[in-house]
Parts: sequence; C-alpha cells; structure tokens
Amino acid sequence: MSTPGSEVNTGLAAGADAGAPPIIALRAVTKVYGEGQAAFKALKGIDLDIAAGDFVAVMGPSGSGKSTVMNILGCLDTPTAGAYLFQGAHVEQLTRDQRARLRRRWLGFVFQGFNLLARTSAQENVELPLLYRGLARAERAAAAKRSLALVGLAGWEHHTPAELSGGQQQRVAIARAIVSEPQVLLADEPTGNLDSQRSREIMELLVRLNEERGITVLMVTHEPDMAAYAKRIVRCVDGRIASDQRNTERTPLRTTDDADTAREEA
Ligand code: ADP
Repeated sequence: MSTPGSEVNTGLAAGADAGAPPIIALRAVTKVYGEGQAAFKALKGIDLDIAAGDFVAVMGPSGSGKSTVMNILGCLDTPTAGAYLFQGAHVEQLTRDQRARLRRRWLGFVFQGFNLLARTSAQENVELPLLYRGLARAERAAAAKRSLALVGLAGWEHHTPAELSGGQQQRVAIARAIVSEPQVLLADEPTGNLDSQRSREIMELLVRLNEERGITVLMVTHEPDMAAYAKRIVRCVDGRIASDQRNTERTPLRTTDDADTAREEA
C-alpha cells in the first residue's frame, strides 16, 4: 500500500477546499500503549487534515489503529506525541475538563451499539446531552423533538428503545448526537448492527446531515458499500495512513420513490 504519490500519507492531498483552514488537523500523532518491554506503538505518525463539511470514511483491518485515531479525535484519549488541532486550538495542551467541554460543545458521537438508555423514552435519551447546558426543561424538550423530527422519528418520542427497530434506535442515537448542534459527528461502525436496507437508510441520513446541515462526518466502517457514501476514504494499515483518496464513485442518494420501493422489497 505504500506506493509513493499524491494519495499517500499526508492527507493534505485529499483535503477539500484548498486554502480554508482545516477544522481538524493531526500532526505526527503517535500513540504508545503500555511501557518498557510491553510498550506497543498503535499509531506511528499520523498526519491528517479534515476540512469543515467533509465526509470521511476511515477503513482498515482490525488492529490498524482506527479506534485509537477516533478516540483521539473525539477527545476521549490523548496522543503520546504530536499535535491535534481543533479549529486551530491545540487539544493536546488542554486540561481534561477543557477537553470534556470541547467534546460536549463541538462533537457528536454515534456508536455501533446505539448506547441508548433502555427504560427511557426516545425523547429523554435525546435530551440527555442538553442537561449539561443548563437549558430550561421546555427548551430541552423542544430541541429533542426537533432533532427526532430531523432523523425521521416525529411521533416516536415516547417510545422506549425496546419498542423501536434497530434502524430506529440508531436514528435516536443520531438525534442525540446532533441535538447540541455539533460541528463534527464521529461515528464508529454506525451500521455494524443493521441489515443492509437499514444500513443504507442510516448512511443516507448521515449524508443529508452532512449536506444540508454542514456537519462534518468522520465514520469508521469495515463495509466498502457504506464507505462508498463518503466523500473521502482514508485507509489505516499498521498504525499509519496507507492511502487517502477522494471518492469519485460516490453512492448517490435515492429518491423517495426508490427508497419506498426498496422498503417494500425488503
Ligand atoms: P482498530 O480500531 O483498527 O481495530 P485499534 O485502534 O483498536 O485498532 O488498535 C490498534 C492497536 O492498538 C491494536 O493492536 C490493539 O491491540 C492496540 N490497543 C488498542 N487499545 C489498547 C490499549 N488500551 N492497551 C494496549 N493496546 C491497545
């Protein structure tokens, strides 16, 4: 995978909007787990620029460092060396509290396993991130309702996760991730627990949020069909970026009619 050329290594080649400062930049980021004899270098020097409004799929074999990169980008972990710039600010120099604030203010998270509270309604699940904001109850409720409507779940506010399909549960999780209007959505295998029809619907929702609301999306996936929705595909191999390319064969969004037909066929 290490042929020299513009697609290799820096991420700068594929960064959109030449000239616009990236919303996210990693510079020579390394991550070492453990110490001494047991030390393991999970990231061996990552350089990556992500422009606001990009939609990036991160692929690569198991153990290649995808989760480690996502944890660093999500402010859940810090690099051993190197710099992480978020809107120009050095995240690696922030205190734990400052990182937590950055995370709550600017980042949204979607996980493979939905991670919803089980005996809690969709509405209350989506309101949770707003509890930190000190919003009045009515404002929280209105924002959660709007967010659920955005993901196509108007009318489902009072259902608990057990009363919803997997695809609907992931929609609730996405509504929760975007209720605080983050700039960046980090999604770790968001379709990993869904069948192909439901997976397509989730990907189309992510594409719409990216295009219509300008949310920058970073998604880890094993599935080439899901990566095909991204504008850019970054491949990790053995703790490095092995390739970084614009996706020139992007899967188009289906029309409502197409989606209806697919649903009937499913
Ligand atoms: P991926 O997400 O691509 O499967 P990870 O980022 O989870 O890869 O892991 C990269 C490497 O780092 C793997 O070899 C993994 O075993 C190792 N690793 C990840 N987390 C830890 C940890 N907390 N302690 C020790 N090694 C870890």
